Amino acid sequence: SLSDRLTATFKNLRGRGRLSEADIDATVREIRRALLDADVAVPVVREFAAAVRERALGVEVSGALNPAQQVVKIVNEELVEILGGATRTLQLAKVPPTVIMLAGLQGAGKTTLAGKLAHALKQQGHTPVLVAADLQRPNAVTQLSVVAERAGVPVFAPHPGNQGAETDAVIGDPVGVARDGVAYAREKQHDVVIVDTAGRLGVDAVLMQQASDIRSAISPDEVLFVIDAMIGQDAVNTATAFLEGVDFTGVVLSKLDGDARGGAALSVAKVTGRPIMFASTGEKLTDFEVFHPDRMAGRILDMGDVLTLIEQAERAFDAEQAEKMAAKVAQGKDFTLADFLVQMQQMKKMGSMKKMLGMLPGMGQMREAIESFDEREVDRIEAIIHSMTPGERENPKIINGSRRARIARGAGTTTTAVNQLLERFDGAQKMMRQMSRGGGMPGMPPMPG
Ligand code: GDP
Ligand code: MG
Repeated sequence: SLSDRLTATFKNLRGRGRLSEADIDATVREIRRALLDADVAVPVVREFAAAVRERALGVEVSGALNPAQQVVKIVNEELVEILGGATRTLQLAKVPPTVIMLAGLQGAGKTTLAGKLAHALKQQGHTPVLVAADLQRPNAVTQLSVVAERAGVPVFAPHPGNQGAETDAVIGDPVGVARDGVAYAREKQHDVVIVDTAGRLGVDAVLMQQASDIRSAISPDEVLFVIDAMIGQDAVNTATAFLEGVDFTGVVLSKLDGDARGGAALSVAKVTGRPIMFASTGEKLTDFEVFHPDRMAGRILDMGDVLTLIEQAERAFDAEQAEKMAAKVAQGKDFTLADFLVQMQQMKKMGSMKKMLGMLPGMGQMREAIESFDEREVDRIEAIIHSMTPGERENPKIINGSRRARIARGAGTTTTAVNQLLERFDGAQKMMRQMSRGGGMPGMPPMPG
């Protein structure tokens, strides 16, 4: 597996602080192979690897991670970013009905998705209706009707007389059906309309024109491009053709229950710049979920274990720093500005503590301090402390007016900001001294023993 190969590549690197260019190239080479194995399109892999290499070259030495882990961390972050970072939800129309059009190749999973989406929306209190604008394939209308019945939603379909039996000819007028379907939804006060459309086995000019005509006729709020995750290297061409031919606002990845490693997701997201919104994970109505970029990144890299290790290493490192600080305090050693900076940086990393502390009763002053903590403030504090001399950092008492002005200039800030920092530091120092005398954390209730 990739993690085994990476471990081998880096066996001799443990303990080395810096990432050499050769180290980075070796790791990037392995990552490139992993992405190709996951069926990410070749041009996407090439561009991605170059971006990662560049970022890795600029990376700072980390006390917590070895070089290989640092590169893997970068790769994971970049993957999540390309896959959309945060998830986007459906754009609902200000004036109902919200019109959602589905597009994609035949067999991609559009009709199945129509049912899943309708079912999910209905459970959220919406009143969706499905529109059968796929008149291309025999039985397509029947298939959608079955799906609608299962989802417990109505379907708008062309008159049965228009429905041919076993013929491949275009029957009726899909653009007209789509338009009538949206009008029907408006009249019957359905707040969402999902328009199912025809696909073909390959990208086809006639099909693309039809989808584009439907789009023009119904002005959808969302056009969801449904793509089979197993499609592999073809993902880029297919997605590009639909982007140019129909254009879409979001992507749905289907058949993620199979053993596809999800490379299609990365290719499509990177090449189209459109968000992946949902994942389809089976044939059942409920095999449907909001897309999670981080989970997909883990799947593409196939490195869940390594990513967990990285997280643990970082957490252990933080704990070690905190312990060092506690030991220092316990020995009654003076708390310096350098320690203060480390403490601030720890708090920044623990941004999530805000939420956690909110759930704990009786954290008094501690909670207030953390809730009012501004993460950008750490960057400002860092700049100020960095523009002090080592002597000033050791003994802030020597920082007189002219030194304050010099420090402020060096940090690109005001003397007032320097004064505020020194006051805060003074307060923190007093608190630490109190703790080292055994007074405990001020404002904290005594711990039950
Ligand atoms: P369409 O041609 O785009 O409308 O595709 P369909 O919705 O008819 O799906 C084609 C086939 O794929 C059907 O047999 C579906 O049951 C199946 N299918 C659709 N979505 C999924 C999925 O997420 N997982 C699996 N395993 N099968 C799916
Ligand atoms: Mg279909």
